[in-house]
Amino acid sequence: MEKSLIRENLERVRNRVALACRRGGRKPEEVRLIAVTKGVSPPQIKEAVDAGISELGENRLQEAEGKIGVFKDRPVNWHFIGRIQRNKVKKMVNYFHWIHSLDSLQLAEAVDRHAELLGKSMPVLLQLNLTGKETQGGIKEEELFDLIERMNQLSHLDLRGLMVIGPLTSDQSKIRKVFKRLREIKELVNREMPAVGLSELSMGMSNDYEIAIEEGATMIRLGRAIFGERSY
Ligand SMILES: *Cc1c(COP(=O)(O)O)cnc(C)c1O
Repeated sequence: MEKSLIRENLERVRNRVALACRRGGRKPEEVRLIAVTKGVSPPQIKEAVDAGISELGENRLQEAEGKIGVFKDRPVNWHFIGRIQRNKVKKMVNYFHWIHSLDSLQLAEAVDRHAELLGKSMPVLLQLNLTGKETQGGIKEEELFDLIERMNQLSHLDLRGLMVIGPLTSDQSKIRKVFKRLREIKELVNREMPAVGLSELSMGMSNDYEIAIEEGATMIRLGRAIFGERSY
């Protein structure tokens, strides 16, 4: 049987991940590959899952709902990576296994409340905005410590790490600077607040995941590199 494009893409991605790990002195099993399925149809997602993908990412709840239903009997974890809408927190907490894009105390409290109602503890990452682009979401670096302190009071949130979207530029040194900064911030939090113990760094997309891995990413979020170009 001819190998599908998605399998070929995945093979290429895995090779590049391995090489980036070697350059960064990392182990490939330290890097979780999240296949971002926005704009991707269930049959295509199935190809990726059949090829060994177990982590799936979506940035719109409405689009994700149907897909999560389709794969409910497969051993996959869904990661919410988009802007969070207050009125959709309940569904998000119910359907998703991870939230990467938490960026306010109000949302943290809403997630905590719904997690409590569902009797679960929700693994979350705080999204930082290190590029100054408002549309990307994320909190400012100055807000981080205060927010973490307040989140510590919320017993159904499990804060695991930080997330960032790299700058949209072809200047590799600018991209690297942002990823390096996120790792430094994580180390700073762990030094100043040892009880928090952040372990995850969600950073790196199709254009910049190799740099992210070299700088310490533990989760990379890839759409186009796996599924090809999408319509939006
Ligand atoms: C779409 C999206 C991705 C994947 O982007 P690609 O360039 O297709 O790899 C990763 N992270 C977030 C937050 C996204 O919205």
